[in-house]
Amino acid sequence: VIEARSVTFSFGETPALRGASIAVDAGEILAIMGPSGSGKSTLLHCLAGILVPDSGEILFDGRRVDAMTETERSSLRRDRFGFVFQFGQLVPELTAAENVALPLLLSGVRRTEALRKAYGWFERLGLDGMEQRRSGELSGGQAQRVALARGLVAKPEVLFADEPTGALDSLTGEQVMNLLVAAAREQGITVILVTHEPRVAAYADREVIVRDGRVNLPERIAS
Ligand code: ATP
Ligand code: MG
Repeated sequence: VIEARSVTFSFGETPALRGASIAVDAGEILAIMGPSGSGKSTLLHCLAGILVPDSGEILFDGRRVDAMTETERSSLRRDRFGFVFQFGQLVPELTAAENVALPLLLSGVRRTEALRKAYGWFERLGLDGMEQRRSGELSGGQAQRVALARGLVAKPEVLFADEPTGALDSLTGEQVMNLLVAAAREQGITVILVTHEPRVAAYADREVIVRDGRVNLPERIAS
């Protein structure tokens, strides 16, 4: 459903991607692993239409994302993609429910309807009673589940997650991953997940390693 072909990207003089290629199937859960600075986040951002490659192609559903205008890419991100990052990045002024409702509100869904849909996620993510809290009143694991709900509420076709458990202890991280994988499977959402934790990558259908800005063949280190 989504593919990078020989993508290069530099931050000024610093090459981050040097010919990265990856194809992700619809409904697949893919883990991107690799050393710090190898280009994992940059690859995720190129796939998600946040960054535009210097060369190479990004295809989503047969369309050239790299050739789109900024407006087209931002509608693609808003209407068809969901995002979860390392630190939930909740808006502190909003309640948890308003944070979850945000992607729907940005898509033009009416407030009552957006909040109704947002509330539906609280029970299933074990967040009953947290709807009116602000992010400062949530634990790290609760905040990350709220961020997960926000990434899923608009029923994205692809969920992009960059170190979604990176700020959590391992037990809480496993809970978040269990919820993420269950929701993705149930709704047929494709997940592209960046992690440096093998325990998190083990939830994926497939893992790839990024090294020096390229995607290596799948590999699993025996332990
Ligand atoms: P980590 O595991 O630490 O998150 P990563 O694999 O996600 O690392 P990237 O963030 O993709 O790595 O970075 C790839 C390269 O690009 C690195 O050399 C990094 O220093 C550089 N880089 C990343 N973001 C920027 C930026 N905003 N400005 C300049 N250089 C950057
Ligand atoms: Mg990164």
